[in-house]
This record gives sequence, C-alpha cells and structure tokens, in this order.
Amino acid sequence: MSLHATAEAIDIGGFELTNGRRISLLADWNGEQDAQSFLREAKNGACKWFATTLGPDYNSLHADHFHLQSRGWGLCR
Ligand SMILES: [Zn+2]
Repeated sequence: MSLHATAEAIDIGGFELTNGRRISLLADWNGEQDAQSFLREAKNGACKWFATTLGPDYNSLHADHFHLQSRGWGLCR
C-alpha cells in the first residue's frame, strides 16, 4: 500500500513563486538554468526533512513530481 493512503507521503509537481512565476518539474527539470538550480536545491533541501525523496533522477515515473515520504531509508534521488 502506498504511504499516500495514510497521508505519510505527498507529491509536489511544481512551485509558484511570489512573483507569479511557475516552475514545474516536467517543464523545468531540464529547462532554463535558474529553474534547474531551483528544483535541485528544492530536492536536496527536501532530503533533509523527508526520509525518502524521489524525483526525476530516480525513474521516469517521477519525471513530473517529487515524492516526499516521512518513512524510508534516507533515499534521496
Ligand atoms: Zn508519491
């Protein structure tokens, strides 16, 4: 059973900045350099808070979102 079922995991597909700019994993993971940097910093930052963090570097199923999970084994990919 997925940990989403017990609210122990959340998927994040993108961000809307205070200036209104939208940065999405699908469009920007390999997009403009500043957006790429933002998304990688977001992922690396999430790894400090969540026990499991998966994104586009993990597999194609996660090409459009970060999977952030409270349980796991320190996986950060
Ligand atoms: Zn997920």
